[in-house]
Amino acid sequence: MLETTIAGSLPKPEWLAEPEKLWPAWRAEGEDLRLAQERSAAEWLKHQAEVGIDIVTNGEQFRTHFVHGFLEHIAGIDWNKKTPMGIRDNRYTVQVPTVTGPVSRPHSVHLDEVRFTRSQTDRKLKFTLPGPMTICDTIADAHYGSRPDMAMAFAALLNAEALELAAAGVDVIQFDEPAFNVFMEDVKEWGIAALHRAVKDLRCTTAVHICYGYGIEENLRWKETLGNEWRQYEEIFPALNASRIGQVSLECADSQVPLSLMGLLKDKEIMVGAVAVTSHKVETPAEVAATIRSAMQFVDAQRLLPCTNCGMAPIPYVVARAKLKSLAAGAALVRAEL
Ligand code: ZN
Repeated sequence: MLETTIAGSLPKPEWLAEPEKLWPAWRAEGEDLRLAQERSAAEWLKHQAEVGIDIVTNGEQFRTHFVHGFLEHIAGIDWNKKTPMGIRDNRYTVQVPTVTGPVSRPHSVHLDEVRFTRSQTDRKLKFTLPGPMTICDTIADAHYGSRPDMAMAFAALLNAEALELAAAGVDVIQFDEPAFNVFMEDVKEWGIAALHRAVKDLRCTTAVHICYGYGIEENLRWKETLGNEWRQYEEIFPALNASRIGQVSLECADSQVPLSLMGLLKDKEIMVGAVAVTSHKVETPAEVAATIRSAMQFVDAQRLLPCTNCGMAPIPYVVARAKLKSLAAGAALVRAEL
């Protein structure tokens, strides 16, 4: 009960990549880079086990960015044809690569790193992939002409990848869909259908992560416009509860999300964000426990997995290590009361 886990990414040590950046440059290349990534992933797996995280990840040490780490290996994308795009409904403008033909996956993207990661831990292993809607909101389209069509094409590739990763021993496949909090109508119209395509025939646990983003300036400014109560989840949770996705990961710690909205996910396991990623202040175990107890008013302990609000890639390395320790310690405090 109250199995702990993390949303996905963890900071890269400064000897692996530039610290505290969303798009860090690697410190090495080729085989040297690969060995450094493996060493870093192994260290994070060891730390998670030592502090008591139950469902672990490799901290996304093998990819630069949570979306482009997958897309870099997909054919049909022109990386030299950059298109300015106001992503997440114009929250910020980025020069993104462009889809110029039918997309395909010439080879496995993450299989090697998953085999390595699986060999390094006996714990339950989670692996994260970008969700189809979030991919479509992070890349320009000069081929499909419709976002739902492009999303379905990517969902088929994600599904082929996910099936291979599950066969290699991944216990939980999670799709990251921060765009679900922005395009709520689209979620109901085609976002969940695209997720269903991505999880087709998967027999491992499936999850979707929906957050309010990393603690970057653009996100913090956006959050200020959302008012005292962030109710975006309310519009999509009924449809998610009716979906075939097993777990939903959401943001709770230090946010304005009314926890009562979790009552709309009665049939799902819920990863409750109990440590924030927007501040460098490390929550105490007592604070983590308080968030978990508040969530338990709306989710029974059997369905509740204490988690981080979001990925921790851009925060300082030592802060992330301390936050993981508090997360596990806070969950242990509540477990002891049950
Ligand atoms: Zn997130």
